[in-house]
Amino acid sequence: MIDQKIPAPVLEIIHNYLGFSPEILSFEEKGGGSINSAASIRTASGNFFAKWNTLQGREGMFSEELYGLEKLGSAGEIRVPKGIGAAEKEGRCFLVMEHIDSGDFEIGFWEIFGRKMALLHKHSHNQFGFEHDNFIGSLPQKNTFSDSWVDFFIKYRLEPQLKIAVDSGKADSIVVKKFESLYTKLDDIFPKEKPSLLHGDLWGGNFMCTLDGNPAIFDPAVYYGNREMDLAMSRLFGGFDPEFYDAYQEEFPLEPGFEKRFDLCNLYPLLVHVNLFPGSYIQSVKHIVSRF
Ligand code: ADP
Repeated sequence: MIDQKIPAPVLEIIHNYLGFSPEILSFEEKGGGSINSAASIRTASGNFFAKWNTLQGREGMFSEELYGLEKLGSAGEIRVPKGIGAAEKEGRCFLVMEHIDSGDFEIGFWEIFGRKMALLHKHSHNQFGFEHDNFIGSLPQKNTFSDSWVDFFIKYRLEPQLKIAVDSGKADSIVVKKFESLYTKLDDIFPKEKPSLLHGDLWGGNFMCTLDGNPAIFDPAVYYGNREMDLAMSRLFGGFDPEFYDAYQEEFPLEPGFEKRFDLCNLYPLLVHVNLFPGSYIQSVKHIVSRF
């Protein structure tokens, strides 16, 4: 029985959404996610994508991902999987969303993607932050509303991750001093721009090309922030074509000097990587802070 392989809370979420239990046609567990278990579930009444994990320290993680997907989807600029439901049961957390089938990249994909991200970034708010705190990977991300991007970036992005790195012995007092000196310079470095609705974790593993050749984004860590955060993150591990950036620039040009600021933006995802994964990410962090 296929149904018996599927975690019961996942079936329950689908039942609650449809109002009945659909005939299950297939259940395929997926690799590729950095943190969670995941599976595609095909049913006679629609296809679903589910993720699950142990709950420890991740209370609210998937309900916030669901909230973020809804926020991005309601902007209406770029395809985002529709959220179906989230649950926390017996020490585990579960998320179910619409399954999006992937297709082949066609000419024009990158241009559409760049333009759509620019249009998404035009969705603004009167402050930096978000109405909910959420998660970056499996680490908590605070989104307390702030009037200043630089204050928000220091207080709710860099400082908390640097503290985790120091507490676990991955960063020392020399690095901390360099960050403290950097903080005093950031006001002169970042342009004064309006907050943008961000995906918040825009690396090459968090977008796909749909069957009709359009981009879809998923696995977000949404907030209103400086739009260079998304663009910088997209460059950190590569995988985005130059046409993406050209189209973005045409639709919503960046202030001059963005290349230098991208490195500063990427201190956040790099510190997150220091805290979540093995590897030499701390060297990249040190390299950037030493340059400013
Ligand atoms: P994690 O939170 O563990 O990083 P992701 O949300 O990034 O997991 O999903 C892992 C992989 O599953 C993605 O790289 C993508 O290929 C696929 N995927 C994610 N969401 C969907 C979806 N809604 N429909 C189909 N495939 C998806």
